[in-house]
Amino acid sequence: MGPLTLTILGAGPAAPNPGGANSGYLVRQGPTAVVLDCGPGTAGQIALHVPPERLDGVAISHFHPDHYFDLVALYYLLKYGERRATRLPVWIPPDGRAFLDRFGRVVSDKSAMLEDIFDLREYTPGRETRIGDLEFTFLPVQHYVPSHAMRVRGNDGRVLVFSSDAAPCPGLPAAAQGADLFLCESALLDASQDERKPENRGHLTAAEAGAAAHAAGVKRLLITHYRSGEDHDQHHLTSARTTFNGPVDLARPGVTYTIKRD
Ligand SMILES: [Zn+2]
Repeated sequence: MGPLTLTILGAGPAAPNPGGANSGYLVRQGPTAVVLDCGPGTAGQIALHVPPERLDGVAISHFHPDHYFDLVALYYLLKYGERRATRLPVWIPPDGRAFLDRFGRVVSDKSAMLEDIFDLREYTPGRETRIGDLEFTFLPVQHYVPSHAMRVRGNDGRVLVFSSDAAPCPGLPAAAQGADLFLCESALLDASQDERKPENRGHLTAAEAGAAAHAAGVKRLLITHYRSGEDHDQHHLTSARTTFNGPVDLARPGVTYTIKRD
């Protein structure tokens, strides 16, 4: 069995970076391949790395458009592509089935449009969920809508944690505890871009992402969901390094990261 790997399909914030896509990641180990979030522009990236019909599942962190709109593009990829023996499991937040039923009706003339291709499954936060050979745990984090960090454990015990969209909150370092790789959002250049009251906030600065990484004792931090640009990129890295002493990088679209203990 090979190592756990993370491939960046899209690392942009809600307003995509030039030439880039929204939130989407591919996690693989051996024959297992799972997509984390499926934001606009990411479905077309999947086939560069794995045949879409061979996916073991898709997991959606929360229902903001930049995290799930390309479920429609993935639906058509599977509907008109190579046949699968079974429908593709799509793991969604609690009450997500009713939400996607309404969404399917809006984008199609058929009721429950998505469900002839997707096997929709609502996850239970805090409970381990096996997808292929990987163990997923979905853990609530503070955002403007219900949002779930994803803790992914490979069969070699290595752990990847994806923050989802999150504000500074106790749930974030709890979810990321001891992770070998922490893929953490940094949608803000400055905290003044978010709501003023801490309880109303929904995103992180890179310094806050670094603080969460430090509190969680992670081995490595990968910043994502960030606004790119030459000055911005350096700002994210410099800011994160003020609060986190370990290795920090910006998630780069198309790049595959190997998750190892070293
Ligand atoms: Zn969001």
